Amino acid sequence: MIQPVQKSLFAVIGNPVGHSLSPVMMNRAFQSLQVPAVYVALQVDRLEEDLETLYRTGFEGLSVTLPHKEQALGIVEEADETARTIGAVNTLRRTPRGWEGRNTDWLGANRALRAATPLEGKRVLVLGAGGAAKAVAFGLKKEGARVTIANRTVERGELLARSLGCRFLPLSQLSREGRESEFEIVVQCTSVGLPGSPPTSLVPRSFFRPSMVVMDTVYRPLWTEFSSLARDAGSRIVPGWEMLLYQGVAQLEWWLGREIPEEGGIREMREALWEGLVG
Ligand code: NAP
Repeated sequence: MIQPVQKSLFAVIGNPVGHSLSPVMMNRAFQSLQVPAVYVALQVDRLEEDLETLYRTGFEGLSVTLPHKEQALGIVEEADETARTIGAVNTLRRTPRGWEGRNTDWLGANRALRAATPLEGKRVLVLGAGGAAKAVAFGLKKEGARVTIANRTVERGELLARSLGCRFLPLSQLSREGRESEFEIVVQCTSVGLPGSPPTSLVPRSFFRPSMVVMDTVYRPLWTEFSSLARDAGSRIVPGWEMLLYQGVAQLEWWLGREIPEEGGIREMREALWEGLVG
């Protein structure tokens, strides 16, 4: 039997996972916090079997990324109410009985946005109806924001809006004059902007306002067509990688059972992420 002896083991599991920034961010955090632990990226393709192997090998915690977040929810020994509502887990913690799951994506989005603006009572537009949109819309509702979901595929968008108690708008309606004045915060949660995706900004240039707070959850490339238009219009930009940062902070806090300080923790994680993004 293999057992770690000098350092606790943590990993991000996904497929593909080679470009994940989580290892640089988490290893810098462990170093700053003086926690004897190591965090690696593991490509996993047989989730159930591989989770058992990682449990037997002694891993203390796992970050779960695409395409395993939904399936992992069905495998874990227990999951909190929030993860069940979102329908996905992105964090696993070792317990004596097996893996316990949570979702920290919504915490990451809320904390990143909250640094720019209070969220309670705000009129928010969430673009997309996939996994990211679900976590973001859930978190914003929980914080008391008034959330509208817009999606290309009407049925999928309506389904998500209904499940969370949000309003729905077909994406095509956002190009109509006047719609922009309805929103104070806009969060882009579709996969548009990722390398290889169609060159569309989703909304017209005229949609953005200087009074808006805008976050594009796509953070690689650093500037997408969407976030560039928002920046040029003078909107306040929250970088999508701040969501990645804060979902990671929430993971660490759960694994280690303590708050991560700004100095000697979060600041160093942010620096590591930035180096990974521009390096
Ligand atoms: P997903 O479940 O596959 O959903 C994709 C969404 O994009 C759907 O709403 C889809 O609309 C929409 N879409 C795709 N192509 C489109 C197009 N050409 N025009 C309009 N809408 C289009 O993906 P996901 O897991 O939610 O991930 C979405 C993005 O979130 C990813 O790009 C990822 O980088 C980002 N993300 C970021 C973080 C972070 O920490 N910053 C965390 C998680 C995810 P239909 O329903 O019409 O197909």
